[in-house]
Amino acid sequence: MLAALILAVALVLTVDRLYGHSTIAFAAAILGLVIANAPMLRLNCPECGKNLFFRGVFVVPWPNRTCGKCGYELDHDEPGQDHQNR
Ligand SMILES: [Zn+2]
Repeated sequence: MLAALILAVALVLTVDRLYGHSTIAFAAAILGLVIANAPMLRLNCPECGKNLFFRGVFVVPWPNRTCGKCGYELDHDEPGQDHQNR
């Protein structure tokens, strides 16, 4: 997530210097960020549909391992997901 943000900012700054201010580059960067964040917003509990990034009233940048609403265990369901989250 952080890498995507840095990449997006770097892209905008690079294009800005080379070609002047570009709305297209800015739009592309925003689009890239949305795409990078899409899996996060889609990650809901398969049992009750609760978004796993919400813990009560808080939103955290990594998903719950166990659903806070119904207690569904998600550890074994998401191979490869754990290593992306620090
Ligand atoms: Zn649940």
